[in-house]
Amino acid sequence: MRRRVLNGSLAVVTFTVLAAVSSWPARAVTTEVAVAGALVRVDFDRAAFADGGVELLAWVRRSAQIVARYYGRFPEHPLDLRVIAESGDGVQGGTTYANPAAFMRLRLGRDVTPAQLRADWVLVHEMTHLALPDTGEEHAWLSEGIATYVEGVARVQAGNRDEADVWREELRAMPRGLPQANDRGMDHTHTWGRTYWGGAMFCLLADVEIHKRSANRFGLQDALREILARSGGLAADWPIGKVLRTGDAATGTTALEDLYARMKDTPVSPDLPALWRSLGVEPAGATVRLDDAAPLASIRQAIMRPR
Ligand SMILES: [Zn+2]
Repeated sequence: MRRRVLNGSLAVVTFTVLAAVSSWPARAVTTEVAVAGALVRVDFDRAAFADGGVELLAWVRRSAQIVARYYGRFPEHPLDLRVIAESGDGVQGGTTYANPAAFMRLRLGRDVTPAQLRADWVLVHEMTHLALPDTGEEHAWLSEGIATYVEGVARVQAGNRDEADVWREELRAMPRGLPQANDRGMDHTHTWGRTYWGGAMFCLLADVEIHKRSANRFGLQDALREILARSGGLAADWPIGKVLRTGDAATGTTALEDLYARMKDTPVSPDLPALWRSLGVEPAGATVRLDDAAPLASIRQAIMRPR
């Protein structure tokens, strides 16, 4: 069992034994949401929400569509998803289990607003976990990094989040993923910062590198789609080498394997401000300015362009 705390929310990736849910209300119903050829079966207590769950179901559908659009399909069919009503508002946390079929629990405030649901990252993050095989505990950074990185890109591609907002968050938060004193590389340093933002940094570096090596024809998205297509996603147990090799085969590069070889046992501190400058992302007060004349601006645009 493993648990990770992300921005105050509980996000669990995989888990071998499901905990019993003792207080599940008898009024709970299951509603099937069809998305991109997959079914999401949503269990929730209709009476807990003033609108009977109309906005809740729209949120599930929207989040699933965002993930399906990024991966070219929804990663799991069927997916069982349980929504637990809590006091207060907001999306309060998410948990994804593989046992071996995927199962997801979300904690949602009874007073959650439609605006909070439209701006939610938690469900997209959790659904992204469904698309990657389980590679074992020491590589949690890969799973959490992909979920952290893809959430922003997938939402931009779907028109659910502003591109500048994604880069603004990366400028602010990704430096937490840089190695600190006594770091021993990605596979041996299991801090919160290295797991989530170090993993996301790996994804950004890999994405840019794949675009560079393929003359901007391919990106991390192509690699991740191939990994899902070949593995079937979270229910599979794959060694990390096979995951990265499969992704690289889709882009005709060795970008993922090369980056992993550099970063797995050694602290690597890339010059992130220089990377963002080359992509055309400039800090501007509390936000960022996007510069399309920057040397790698075409790569930035390709990453965020809808497929
Ligand atoms: Zn997660």
